[in-house]
Amino acid sequence: MIDTHVHLYDQAFDTDRDLVVERAKNTGVRHCILPAIDKSSFRAQQECLARYPWFCHKASGLHPTSVNTDFRKELDFAYSNLEGAVAIGEVGLDGYWSREFMEEQILALEEQVQWAREKDLPLIIHSRSSFPELLSTLKKCRYPGMRGILHAWSGSAEVFREANRYGHFLMGIGGVITYSNARLAGVVQEFDLAQIVLETDAPWLSPVPFRGKRNESAYLKYIAEKLAQLKDVSAEKVVGQTTQNALSLFFGVKK
Ligand SMILES: [Zn+2]
Repeated sequence: MIDTHVHLYDQAFDTDRDLVVERAKNTGVRHCILPAIDKSSFRAQQECLARYPWFCHKASGLHPTSVNTDFRKELDFAYSNLEGAVAIGEVGLDGYWSREFMEEQILALEEQVQWAREKDLPLIIHSRSSFPELLSTLKKCRYPGMRGILHAWSGSAEVFREANRYGHFLMGIGGVITYSNARLAGVVQEFDLAQIVLETDAPWLSPVPFRGKRNESAYLKYIAEKLAQLKDVSAEKVVGQTTQNALSLFFGVKK
């Protein structure tokens, strides 16, 4: 399995990070992608990448909730640290926590989509309470080869389909799928496994039976199992296909 979204460098793991990695390996997680947030978490991310080079892969970008009046400086910083990144992220729009800097968030997203284009990298996109703005930005910035993950997807099937008219986007599915949320279950059932990747978003959004507790990559299997149940296929099939999707997106590995 590949955990396509985990903040392993978060301080929530400071006391037992080696054990967390060990547990992930023991449950079959072979790789994980560490999305950046901003300058303040950069050093921790770098340390984590250096400690587990065979396990952790770097994404570079500016998280929408870290976009404020200083965002140009933050973007310059993220851009200067693109080396070795397998993706641009996490980027996107968040109108849930605050809409104060929505205009700046859109500008930051537009610029980072240009980086993805220039470097030919996938995007890891966070979008919360901002679907109209997300779609108009993707439409405006689209280019042949635009691709990525719509991480922690919480939108409708229609919005996901529209995003896929502008680029090739996979649906990032995490712990939320294990909550009694009929809506997301319905959305997932409308798409093929070829369009889905697994993620934990740890330390947040733990799947059942760990809901409310700290999340970690070892729990990815609960997400795979829930997806298998929803799609009426084996967990092995879910793992095989979603791993292939992630390998192809981040490492260009074809079947
Ligand atoms: Zn994240």
